Amino acid sequence: MIPENCTFCGLCCTLTVRLSERDIKRIEKGSGRKREDFVVADNDGKPLLKREKGWCTFFKREGRVGICTIYDSRPDNCRDFPGKRLCDLAENPLYRHLSDNNENKRVRLLLKNAPTSATPAKAIEEAQQNAAETFKAISEK
Ligand code: SF4
Ligand code: SF4
Repeated sequence: MIPENCTFCGLCCTLTVRLSERDIKRIEKGSGRKREDFVVADNDGKPLLKREKGWCTFFKREGRVGICTIYDSRPDNCRDFPGKRLCDLAENPLYRHLSDNNENKRVRLLLKNAPTSATPAKAIEEAQQNAAETFKAISEK
């Protein structure tokens, strides 16, 4: 689900994503990539979406907009996130206490555009407009 205040910042694409067999098959079909190319195992051998330098392997940043390059075949967990009307990921203490290493500097760029409870409605509207224009430009390429 897309929350009302989603700014398409892409911050949620830095999270760990569990995969089901159904997700893996759908992604293979949709992306043309083989499972060994995008699946890693957790400590118990269960499948997770591969991340590279802190981001999901399918994430792409276009200006201020985070893009899922497998949107139509994305995993169920991504479809369900955040499972509520408003996204408050930016207020999670995990992000407030990021160290200053290079990888985190890049995550901070996403964080800058993520909505919080204090984000004015006008700023969310502008971010959504910007995202809509970016998606349109990409689909016309
Ligand atoms: S972190 Fe929240 S606001 Fe940003 S893209 Fe994900 S759902 Fe949207
Ligand atoms: S599959 Fe798409 S929505 Fe899910 S984490 Fe990766 S880039 Fe983000």
